[in-house]
Amino acid sequence: MLHRLTISELTGRLARRECTAQSALRACFDHLTQVDGQVRAFMSYDVTDAYAQAEAADRDLAAGVTHAQKPLLGVPIALKDLLAHRGQPLNCSSKILGNYRSPYDATVVEKLKAAGAVVFGRLNMDEFAMGSSTETSAFQTTLNPWDLTRIPGGSSGGCAASVAANMAFASIGSDTGGSIRQPAALCGVVGVKPTYGLVSRYGLTAFASSLDQIGPFAKDVHDAALLTQVIAGHDPRDSTSIPQPVPDYLAALAKNTGPQPLKGLKLGLAKEYMIGGLDHEVDAAMQAAVKQYQALGAEVVEVSLPHSDYAAATYYIIAPAEASANLARFDGVRYGARVDGRDPAELNAKTRGAGFGAEVKRRIILGTYVLSSGYYDAYYLRAQKVRTLIRQDFLKAFETVDAILTPTTPTAAFKVGEKSDDPLQMYLSDIFTISCNLAGICGISVPCGFTKPTETAPRLPLGLQLLGKPFGEETMFRLAHAYEQSTGWHHERSPLG
Ligand code: GLN
Repeated sequence: MLHRLTISELTGRLARRECTAQSALRACFDHLTQVDGQVRAFMSYDVTDAYAQAEAADRDLAAGVTHAQKPLLGVPIALKDLLAHRGQPLNCSSKILGNYRSPYDATVVEKLKAAGAVVFGRLNMDEFAMGSSTETSAFQTTLNPWDLTRIPGGSSGGCAASVAANMAFASIGSDTGGSIRQPAALCGVVGVKPTYGLVSRYGLTAFASSLDQIGPFAKDVHDAALLTQVIAGHDPRDSTSIPQPVPDYLAALAKNTGPQPLKGLKLGLAKEYMIGGLDHEVDAAMQAAVKQYQALGAEVVEVSLPHSDYAAATYYIIAPAEASANLARFDGVRYGARVDGRDPAELNAKTRGAGFGAEVKRRIILGTYVLSSGYYDAYYLRAQKVRTLIRQDFLKAFETVDAILTPTTPTAAFKVGEKSDDPLQMYLSDIFTISCNLAGICGISVPCGFTKPTETAPRLPLGLQLLGKPFGEETMFRLAHAYEQSTGWHHERSPLG
Protein backbone atom coordinates (compact mmCIF):
# COMPACT_ATOMS: atom_id res chain seq x y z
CA MET A 1 0.00 0.00 0.00
CA LEU A 2 3.07 2.26 -0.03
CA HIS A 3 2.03 3.73 -3.38
CA ARG A 4 -1.00 5.35 -1.74
CA LEU A 5 1.09 7.55 0.57
CA THR A 6 1.74 11.24 0.04
CA ILE A 7 5.33 12.39 -0.30
CA SER A 8 5.45 13.63 3.28
CA GLU A 9 4.08 10.31 4.55
CA LEU A 10 6.59 8.37 2.45
CA THR A 11 9.60 10.45 3.49
CA GLY A 12 8.50 10.00 7.12
CA ARG A 13 8.57 6.22 6.69
CA LEU A 14 11.88 6.30 4.82
CA ALA A 15 13.43 8.42 7.55
CA ARG A 16 12.21 5.99 10.22
CA ARG A 17 13.54 3.08 8.13
CA GLU A 18 10.04 1.59 7.94
CA CYS A 19 10.49 1.11 4.20
CA THR A 20 13.17 1.60 1.57
CA ALA A 21 13.31 3.67 -1.59
CA GLN A 22 13.42 0.42 -3.54
CA SER A 23 10.26 -0.87 -1.88
CA ALA A 24 8.47 2.43 -2.62
CA LEU A 25 9.51 2.18 -6.26
CA ARG A 26 8.42 -1.47 -6.37
CA ALA A 27 5.01 -0.46 -5.00
CA CYS A 28 4.63 2.06 -7.85
CA PHE A 29 5.71 -0.44 -10.49
CA ASP A 30 3.49 -3.23 -9.09
CA HIS A 31 0.49 -0.94 -9.10
CA LEU A 32 1.38 0.48 -12.50
CA THR A 33 1.53 -3.04 -13.93
CA GLN A 34 -1.95 -3.68 -12.58
CA VAL A 35 -3.74 -0.53 -13.65
CA ASP A 36 -1.87 1.23 -16.45
CA GLY A 37 -3.17 -1.22 -19.05
CA GLN A 38 -6.48 0.55 -18.44
CA VAL A 39 -5.36 4.12 -17.69
CA ARG A 40 -2.53 4.31 -20.25
CA ALA A 41 -0.75 7.21 -18.56
CA PHE A 42 2.80 6.00 -19.25
CA MET A 43 4.48 6.03 -22.65
CA SER A 44 7.53 4.18 -21.30
CA TYR A 45 9.57 3.63 -18.17
CA ASP A 46 13.09 2.42 -17.57
CA VAL A 47 13.00 -0.11 -14.74
CA THR A 48 16.76 -0.61 -14.58
CA ASP A 49 17.56 3.09 -14.43
CA ALA A 50 14.84 3.69 -11.82
CA TYR A 51 16.09 0.93 -9.51
CA ALA A 52 19.65 2.22 -9.85
CA GLN A 53 18.43 5.61 -8.59
CA ALA A 54 16.41 3.97 -5.79
CA GLU A 55 19.45 1.94 -4.72
CA ALA A 56 21.53 5.10 -4.60
CA ALA A 57 18.82 6.74 -2.47
CA ASP A 58 18.88 3.77 -0.09
CA ARG A 59 22.66 4.07 0.20
CA ASP A 60 22.23 7.77 1.05
CA LEU A 61 19.61 6.95 3.66
CA ALA A 62 21.85 4.27 5.19
CA ALA A 63 24.70 6.78 5.31
CA GLY A 64 22.51 9.13 7.32
CA VAL A 65 21.52 11.66 4.64
CA THR A 66 18.30 13.32 5.85
CA HIS A 67 15.28 14.78 4.10
CA ALA A 68 16.32 18.17 5.40
CA GLN A 69 19.36 17.78 3.15
CA LYS A 70 17.58 16.06 0.23
CA PRO A 71 13.87 16.72 0.56
CA LEU A 72 12.78 14.13 -2.04
CA LEU A 73 15.24 11.39 -1.09
CA GLY A 74 13.77 8.07 -2.29
CA VAL A 75 10.55 9.51 -3.77
CA PRO A 76 9.50 8.15 -7.23
CA ILE A 77 8.41 10.99 -9.54
CA ALA A 78 7.38 10.75 -13.21
CA LEU A 79 7.76 13.25 -16.06
CA LYS A 80 5.61 14.58 -18.88
CA ASP A 81 7.02 13.43 -22.21
CA LEU A 82 8.37 16.89 -23.09
CA LEU A 83 11.01 17.25 -20.38
CA ALA A 84 14.56 16.21 -21.20
CA HIS A 85 15.77 13.27 -19.08
CA ARG A 86 19.21 12.14 -20.12
CA GLY A 87 19.29 8.85 -22.02
CA GLN A 88 15.48 8.52 -22.01
CA PRO A 89 13.10 8.84 -24.98
CA LEU A 90 11.55 12.28 -25.55
CA ASN A 91 8.63 12.28 -27.95
CA CYS A 92 6.18 15.00 -26.86
CA SER A 93 3.65 12.28 -27.81
CA SER A 94 4.44 13.04 -31.46
CA LYS A 95 5.64 10.80 -34.27
CA ILE A 96 8.01 13.46 -35.55
CA LEU A 97 10.61 12.82 -32.86
CA GLY A 98 11.00 9.19 -33.93
CA ASN A 99 13.41 7.40 -31.60
CA TYR A 100 15.02 10.59 -30.26
CA ARG A 101 16.58 10.37 -26.80
CA SER A 102 17.56 13.32 -24.62
CA PRO A 103 21.30 13.98 -24.48
CA TYR A 104 20.97 16.02 -21.26
CA ASP A 105 18.79 16.63 -18.20
CA ALA A 106 16.35 19.54 -18.02
CA THR A 107 17.14 21.88 -15.11
CA VAL A 108 14.07 20.63 -13.25
CA VAL A 109 15.27 17.03 -13.66
CA GLU A 110 18.71 17.99 -12.35
CA LYS A 111 17.05 19.65 -9.39
CA LEU A 112 14.79 16.67 -8.68
CA LYS A 113 17.79 14.33 -8.79
CA ALA A 114 19.85 16.63 -6.56
CA ALA A 115 16.95 16.52 -4.09
CA GLY A 116 17.19 12.71 -4.10
CA ALA A 117 14.09 11.90 -6.18
CA VAL A 118 13.85 8.70 -8.21
CA VAL A 119 12.93 10.11 -11.62
CA PHE A 120 11.21 7.49 -13.73
CA GLY A 121 8.77 7.18 -16.61
CA ARG A 122 7.50 9.22 -19.53
CA LEU A 123 3.90 10.38 -19.30
CA ASN A 124 1.47 10.71 -22.17
CA MET A 125 0.27 14.15 -23.26
CA ASP A 126 -1.46 15.95 -26.09
CA GLU A 127 0.95 16.18 -29.01
CA PHE A 128 3.39 19.02 -28.25
CA ALA A 129 1.05 20.00 -25.37
CA MET A 130 -1.65 21.18 -27.76
CA GLY A 131 -4.98 20.07 -26.42
CA SER A 132 -7.18 19.69 -23.35
CA SER A 133 -7.90 15.97 -23.30
CA THR A 134 -4.73 13.97 -24.17
CA GLU A 135 -6.60 12.79 -27.27
CA THR A 136 -4.17 14.52 -29.65
CA SER A 137 -1.33 12.20 -28.54
CA ALA A 138 -0.07 10.34 -31.60
CA PHE A 139 0.15 7.13 -29.58
CA GLN A 140 -2.64 6.61 -27.07
CA THR A 141 -5.46 8.32 -25.21
CA THR A 142 -5.00 8.34 -21.46
CA LEU A 143 -8.22 7.65 -19.54
CA ASN A 144 -9.52 9.21 -16.36
CA PRO A 145 -8.94 6.91 -13.35
CA TRP A 146 -12.33 8.04 -11.90
CA ASP A 147 -14.20 6.89 -15.03
CA LEU A 148 -12.45 5.07 -17.84
CA THR A 149 -14.94 6.33 -20.44
CA ARG A 150 -13.74 9.89 -19.84
CA ILE A 151 -10.69 11.97 -20.66
CA PRO A 152 -8.23 12.94 -17.88
CA GLY A 153 -7.90 16.49 -19.26
CA GLY A 154 -4.83 17.80 -20.99
CA SER A 155 -2.39 18.45 -22.17
CA SER A 156 -0.67 16.88 -19.12
CA GLY A 157 -3.30 14.12 -18.89
CA GLY A 158 -0.74 11.38 -18.21
CA CYS A 159 0.72 13.42 -15.33
CA ALA A 160 -2.65 13.89 -13.65
CA ALA A 161 -3.83 10.32 -14.22
CA SER A 162 -0.57 8.79 -12.94
CA VAL A 163 -0.88 10.65 -9.64
CA ALA A 164 -4.66 10.13 -9.33
CA ALA A 165 -4.13 6.38 -9.83
CA ASN A 166 -1.17 6.34 -7.39
CA MET A 167 1.30 5.08 -10.00
CA ALA A 168 3.69 7.89 -9.07
CA PHE A 169 3.95 9.93 -5.87
CA ALA A 170 3.99 13.08 -7.97
CA SER A 171 4.67 14.15 -11.53
CA ILE A 172 6.05 17.17 -13.32
CA GLY A 173 4.21 18.73 -16.27
CA SER A 174 3.92 22.00 -18.13
CA ASP A 175 1.16 24.59 -18.39
CA THR A 176 0.79 26.96 -21.34
CA GLY A 177 -2.90 27.73 -21.01
CA GLY A 178 -4.09 25.36 -18.31
CA SER A 179 -2.36 22.07 -19.03
CA ILE A 180 -1.47 21.44 -15.39
CA ARG A 181 -4.49 22.94 -13.61
CA GLN A 182 -7.22 21.58 -15.90
CA PRO A 183 -6.16 17.89 -15.80
CA ALA A 184 -5.42 18.19 -12.07
CA ALA A 185 -9.01 19.36 -11.54
CA LEU A 186 -10.51 16.64 -13.74
CA CYS A 187 -8.49 13.91 -12.00
CA GLY A 188 -8.93 15.17 -8.42
CA VAL A 189 -5.31 16.06 -7.64
CA VAL A 190 -3.39 19.29 -6.93
CA GLY A 191 -1.68 21.08 -9.86
CA VAL A 192 0.47 24.22 -9.80
CA LYS A 193 1.30 26.72 -12.55
CA PRO A 194 4.12 28.80 -11.03
CA THR A 195 4.67 32.46 -11.90
CA TYR A 196 6.38 32.90 -15.27
CA GLY A 197 10.12 32.97 -14.59
CA LEU A 198 10.04 31.10 -11.27
CA VAL A 199 10.98 27.70 -12.75
CA SER A 200 13.65 27.29 -15.43
CA ARG A 201 12.36 26.10 -18.80
CA TYR A 202 15.77 24.77 -19.84
CA GLY A 203 15.13 21.26 -21.16
CA LEU A 204 11.39 21.81 -21.65
CA THR A 205 10.37 21.34 -25.29
CA ALA A 206 8.93 24.75 -26.13
CA PHE A 207 5.31 25.15 -27.22
CA ALA A 208 4.70 28.88 -26.64
CA SER A 209 7.76 30.22 -24.86
CA SER A 210 6.18 33.33 -23.35
CA LEU A 211 3.38 31.25 -21.78
CA ASP A 212 5.02 27.89 -20.92
CA GLN A 213 5.83 27.14 -17.31
CA ILE A 214 6.79 23.85 -15.62
CA GLY A 215 4.96 22.78 -12.47
CA PRO A 216 4.07 19.83 -10.23
CA PHE A 217 1.11 17.47 -9.81
CA ALA A 218 0.73 16.16 -6.27
CA LYS A 219 -1.68 14.42 -3.92
CA ASP A 220 -1.95 17.39 -1.58
CA VAL A 221 -0.94 21.04 -1.25
CA HIS A 222 1.95 20.35 1.11
CA ASP A 223 3.58 18.04 -1.47
CA ALA A 224 2.88 20.54 -4.27
CA ALA A 225 4.54 23.33 -2.27
CA LEU A 226 7.55 21.11 -1.53
CA LEU A 227 7.96 20.16 -5.21
CA THR A 228 7.67 23.79 -6.31
CA GLN A 229 10.34 24.66 -3.76
CA VAL A 230 12.67 22.03 -5.23
CA ILE A 231 12.23 22.92 -8.91
CA ALA A 232 12.11 26.74 -8.58
CA GLY A 233 15.06 29.11 -8.77
CA HIS A 234 17.19 31.16 -11.09
CA ASP A 235 18.97 29.36 -13.92
CA PRO A 236 21.44 31.20 -16.14
CA ARG A 237 20.53 28.76 -18.94
CA ASP A 238 17.01 30.24 -19.12
CA SER A 239 17.20 33.98 -19.72
CA THR A 240 13.57 34.41 -18.62
CA SER A 241 14.15 32.84 -15.22
CA ILE A 242 14.18 35.48 -12.51
CA PRO A 243 17.31 36.00 -10.40
CA GLN A 244 15.73 36.16 -6.97
CA PRO A 245 15.74 33.81 -3.99
CA VAL A 246 12.96 31.20 -3.67
CA PRO A 247 10.83 31.78 -0.56
CA ASP A 248 10.27 28.98 1.95
CA TYR A 249 6.82 27.73 0.93
CA LEU A 250 6.56 25.14 3.70
CA ALA A 251 7.27 27.84 6.27
CA ALA A 252 4.41 29.81 4.71
CA LEU A 253 2.07 26.82 5.22
CA ALA A 254 3.10 26.65 8.86
CA LYS A 255 1.57 30.12 9.33
CA ASN A 256 -1.88 28.52 8.95
CA THR A 257 -2.80 28.02 12.59
CA GLY A 258 -5.96 28.32 14.68
CA PRO A 259 -9.60 28.13 13.60
CA GLN A 260 -9.37 31.21 11.36
CA PRO A 261 -5.94 30.82 9.72
CA LEU A 262 -6.81 33.14 6.82
CA LYS A 263 -7.84 36.15 8.89
CA GLY A 264 -6.54 39.29 7.21
CA LEU A 265 -6.44 37.76 3.73
CA LYS A 266 -8.75 38.88 0.95
CA LEU A 267 -10.05 36.75 -1.91
CA GLY A 268 -11.58 38.14 -5.09
CA LEU A 269 -14.41 36.70 -7.16
CA ALA A 270 -14.27 38.01 -10.71
CA LYS A 271 -17.70 39.13 -11.78
CA GLU A 272 -16.85 38.37 -15.43
CA TYR A 273 -16.29 34.72 -14.48
CA MET A 274 -19.78 34.24 -13.10
CA ILE A 275 -20.96 33.40 -16.55
CA GLY A 276 -24.43 32.18 -17.26
CA GLY A 277 -24.52 28.56 -18.28
CA LEU A 278 -21.89 27.51 -15.76
CA ASP A 279 -22.54 23.88 -14.89
CA HIS A 280 -24.77 23.93 -11.81
CA GLU A 281 -22.62 21.45 -9.90
CA VAL A 282 -19.50 23.52 -10.56
CA ASP A 283 -21.43 26.59 -9.44
CA ALA A 284 -22.62 24.87 -6.25
CA ALA A 285 -19.07 23.71 -5.44
CA MET A 286 -17.82 27.28 -5.86
CA GLN A 287 -20.48 28.70 -3.59
CA ALA A 288 -19.61 26.13 -0.95
CA ALA A 289 -15.92 27.04 -1.33
CA VAL A 290 -16.70 30.73 -0.80
CA LYS A 291 -18.52 29.89 2.46
CA GLN A 292 -15.62 27.71 3.53
CA TYR A 293 -13.14 30.53 2.90
CA GLN A 294 -15.25 32.93 4.91
CA ALA A 295 -15.39 30.43 7.76
CA LEU A 296 -11.59 30.24 7.61
CA GLY A 297 -11.43 33.99 8.19
CA ALA A 298 -10.82 35.24 4.64
CA GLU A 299 -12.77 38.17 3.34
CA VAL A 300 -14.38 37.53 -0.06
CA VAL A 301 -15.09 40.50 -2.33
CA GLU A 302 -16.03 41.05 -5.95
CA VAL A 303 -13.36 42.20 -8.39
CA SER A 304 -13.47 42.99 -12.08
CA LEU A 305 -11.29 41.59 -14.87
CA PRO A 306 -12.88 43.55 -17.73
CA HIS A 307 -10.92 42.01 -20.58
CA SER A 308 -11.66 38.38 -19.67
CA ASP A 309 -13.87 37.91 -22.72
CA TYR A 310 -10.86 38.34 -24.98
CA ALA A 311 -8.56 35.87 -23.23
CA ALA A 312 -9.30 32.78 -25.34
CA ALA A 313 -9.08 34.69 -28.63
CA THR A 314 -5.82 36.34 -27.54
CA TYR A 315 -4.34 33.03 -26.44
CA TYR A 316 -5.28 31.30 -29.68
CA ILE A 317 -3.35 33.92 -31.62
CA ILE A 318 -0.26 34.21 -29.43
CA ALA A 319 0.18 30.51 -28.61
CA PRO A 320 -0.03 29.29 -32.23
CA ALA A 321 2.22 32.15 -33.39
CA GLU A 322 4.95 31.12 -30.96
CA ALA A 323 4.32 27.43 -31.66
CA SER A 324 4.77 27.91 -35.39
CA ALA A 325 8.20 29.40 -34.75
CA ASN A 326 9.22 26.87 -32.07
CA LEU A 327 8.16 23.86 -34.11
CA ALA A 328 10.13 24.99 -37.17
CA ARG A 329 13.08 23.10 -35.70
CA PHE A 330 11.41 19.76 -36.45
CA ASP A 331 12.60 19.74 -40.01
CA GLY A 332 13.65 16.15 -40.65
CA VAL A 333 17.33 17.11 -40.43
CA ARG A 334 18.02 17.82 -36.79
CA TYR A 335 15.82 15.56 -34.67
CA GLY A 336 14.07 12.24 -34.84
CA ALA A 337 12.11 10.99 -37.79
CA ARG A 338 12.85 11.74 -41.45
CA VAL A 339 10.95 11.07 -44.64
CA ASP A 340 13.35 11.44 -47.58
CA GLY A 341 12.69 13.71 -50.54
CA ARG A 342 14.41 14.74 -53.75
CA ASP A 343 15.64 17.98 -52.18
CA PRO A 344 15.69 19.57 -48.70
CA ALA A 345 12.36 21.34 -49.23
CA GLU A 346 10.61 18.12 -50.15
CA LEU A 347 12.31 16.24 -47.29
CA ASN A 348 11.12 18.94 -44.91
CA ALA A 349 7.55 18.98 -46.23
CA LYS A 350 7.22 15.20 -46.28
CA THR A 351 8.70 14.80 -42.80
CA ARG A 352 6.40 17.43 -41.30
CA GLY A 353 3.42 16.16 -43.26
CA ALA A 354 3.88 12.65 -41.92
CA GLY A 355 5.23 13.53 -38.47
CA PHE A 356 2.74 16.08 -37.10
CA GLY A 357 -0.87 15.33 -36.21
CA ALA A 358 -3.92 17.37 -37.21
CA GLU A 359 -4.05 19.67 -34.16
CA VAL A 360 -0.36 20.57 -34.44
CA LYS A 361 -0.76 21.33 -38.15
CA ARG A 362 -3.82 23.46 -37.39
CA ARG A 363 -1.80 25.52 -34.88
CA ILE A 364 1.19 25.91 -37.21
CA ILE A 365 -1.04 27.10 -40.05
CA LEU A 366 -2.89 29.49 -37.74
CA GLY A 367 0.40 30.73 -36.27
CA THR A 368 2.12 31.43 -39.57
CA TYR A 369 -1.06 33.14 -40.78
CA VAL A 370 -1.28 35.60 -37.87
CA LEU A 371 2.44 36.36 -38.23
CA SER A 372 2.37 36.85 -42.00
CA SER A 373 2.86 40.33 -43.41
CA GLY A 374 -0.52 41.89 -43.97
CA TYR A 375 -2.07 40.09 -40.97
CA TYR A 376 0.60 40.69 -38.35
CA ASP A 377 -0.78 44.08 -37.29
CA ALA A 378 -4.39 42.99 -37.38
CA TYR A 379 -3.91 39.79 -35.35
CA TYR A 380 -0.57 39.26 -33.65
CA LEU A 381 0.19 42.84 -32.68
CA ARG A 382 -3.37 43.46 -31.53
CA ALA A 383 -3.33 40.27 -29.48
CA GLN A 384 -0.13 41.43 -27.77
CA LYS A 385 -1.84 44.70 -26.84
CA VAL A 386 -4.86 42.89 -25.44
CA ARG A 387 -2.49 40.63 -23.52
CA THR A 388 -1.10 43.71 -21.79
CA LEU A 389 -4.63 44.84 -20.90
CA ILE A 390 -5.38 41.39 -19.43
CA ARG A 391 -2.24 41.56 -17.30
CA GLN A 392 -3.16 45.06 -16.13
CA ASP A 393 -6.64 43.82 -15.12
CA PHE A 394 -5.00 41.33 -12.78
CA LEU A 395 -2.45 43.74 -11.37
CA LYS A 396 -5.24 46.20 -10.63
CA ALA A 397 -7.37 43.50 -8.94
CA PHE A 398 -4.36 42.45 -6.86
CA GLU A 399 -4.19 45.98 -5.42
CA THR A 400 -7.26 45.04 -3.39
CA VAL A 401 -7.14 41.23 -3.05
CA ASP A 402 -4.46 38.65 -2.24
CA ALA A 403 -5.75 36.08 -4.76
CA ILE A 404 -8.66 35.39 -7.07
CA LEU A 405 -10.94 32.36 -6.70
CA THR A 406 -12.48 30.68 -9.77
CA PRO A 407 -13.60 27.23 -10.85
CA THR A 408 -10.69 25.49 -12.63
CA THR A 409 -12.90 24.13 -15.40
CA PRO A 410 -16.43 24.88 -16.62
CA THR A 411 -17.47 21.19 -16.31
CA ALA A 412 -16.21 17.89 -14.89
CA ALA A 413 -14.34 15.43 -17.16
CA PHE A 414 -16.07 14.87 -20.48
CA LYS A 415 -16.39 11.66 -22.49
CA VAL A 416 -13.64 10.43 -24.79
CA GLY A 417 -14.50 11.68 -28.28
CA GLU A 418 -17.07 14.19 -27.05
CA LYS A 419 -15.13 17.26 -28.17
CA SER A 420 -12.38 15.90 -30.36
CA ASP A 421 -14.11 16.90 -33.62
CA ASP A 422 -14.89 20.39 -32.39
CA PRO A 423 -11.73 22.40 -31.72
CA LEU A 424 -13.66 25.47 -30.55
CA GLN A 425 -15.54 23.51 -27.88
CA MET A 426 -12.24 21.98 -26.82
CA TYR A 427 -10.60 25.42 -26.60
CA LEU A 428 -13.35 26.55 -24.21
CA SER A 429 -12.33 23.98 -21.58
CA ASP A 430 -9.50 26.38 -20.72
CA ILE A 431 -11.65 29.44 -20.34
CA PHE A 432 -10.74 29.92 -16.64
CA THR A 433 -7.08 28.92 -16.87
CA ILE A 434 -5.77 30.76 -19.95
CA SER A 435 -5.60 34.31 -18.53
CA CYS A 436 -3.11 33.24 -15.86
CA ASN A 437 -0.52 32.39 -18.52
CA LEU A 438 -1.23 35.53 -20.54
CA ALA A 439 -0.74 37.61 -17.37
CA GLY A 440 2.32 35.62 -16.21
CA ILE A 441 0.88 35.17 -12.70
CA CYS A 442 0.65 31.96 -10.62
CA GLY A 443 -2.25 29.53 -10.25
CA ILE A 444 -3.16 26.34 -8.45
CA SER A 445 -6.01 23.84 -8.79
CA VAL A 446 -7.20 22.10 -5.62
CA PRO A 447 -9.90 19.39 -5.35
CA CYS A 448 -13.19 20.96 -4.21
CA GLY A 449 -15.74 18.16 -4.35
CA PHE A 450 -17.52 15.86 -6.75
CA THR A 451 -20.44 15.75 -9.12
CA LYS A 452 -23.35 13.62 -7.98
CA PRO A 453 -23.23 10.13 -9.43
CA THR A 454 -25.95 9.36 -11.97
CA GLU A 455 -27.04 6.22 -13.80
CA THR A 456 -24.58 6.95 -16.57
CA ALA A 457 -21.67 8.47 -14.65
CA PRO A 458 -19.94 7.84 -11.34
CA ARG A 459 -19.03 10.83 -9.18
CA LEU A 460 -16.36 12.93 -10.87
CA PRO A 461 -13.86 15.29 -9.21
CA LEU A 462 -14.09 19.09 -9.46
CA GLY A 463 -11.35 21.63 -8.82
CA LEU A 464 -11.17 25.20 -7.65
CA GLN A 465 -8.51 27.55 -8.91
CA LEU A 466 -6.64 30.22 -6.97
CA LEU A 467 -4.82 32.83 -9.02
CA GLY A 468 -2.04 34.59 -7.14
CA LYS A 469 0.09 37.68 -7.59
CA PRO A 470 3.31 37.45 -9.59
CA PHE A 471 5.66 35.56 -7.23
CA GLY A 472 2.78 35.34 -4.74
CA GLU A 473 3.12 31.57 -4.36
CA GLU A 474 3.48 31.72 -0.55
CA THR A 475 0.04 33.24 -0.09
CA MET A 476 -1.44 31.09 -2.85
CA PHE A 477 -0.20 27.91 -1.14
CA ARG A 478 -1.48 29.11 2.25
CA LEU A 479 -4.93 29.77 0.84
CA ALA A 480 -5.01 26.40 -0.92
CA HIS A 481 -3.70 24.53 2.11
CA ALA A 482 -6.15 26.00 4.63
CA TYR A 483 -9.06 25.12 2.35
CA GLU A 484 -7.78 21.60 1.70
CA GLN A 485 -7.11 20.85 5.35
CA SER A 486 -10.55 22.06 6.39
CA THR A 487 -12.45 20.11 3.72
CA GLY A 488 -10.44 16.92 3.37
CA TRP A 489 -11.26 16.38 -0.33
CA HIS A 490 -7.65 15.35 -0.88
CA HIS A 491 -8.23 12.18 1.11
CA GLU A 492 -10.54 10.83 -1.61
CA ARG A 493 -8.77 8.42 -3.94
CA SER A 494 -9.83 7.27 -7.39
CA PRO A 495 -11.15 3.69 -7.73
CA LEU A 496 -7.93 2.75 -9.51
CA GLY A 497 -5.74 4.30 -6.83
N1 GLN B 1 -5.46 23.42 -23.91
C1 GLN B 1 -4.64 24.55 -24.24
C2 GLN B 1 -4.13 24.39 -25.64
O1 GLN B 1 -4.57 23.51 -26.29
C3 GLN B 1 -3.52 24.68 -23.24
C4 GLN B 1 -2.49 23.67 -23.45
C5 GLN B 1 -1.34 23.82 -22.50
O2 GLN B 1 -1.45 24.46 -21.45
N2 GLN B 1 -0.22 23.25 -22.90
O3 GLN B 1 -3.32 25.11 -26.11
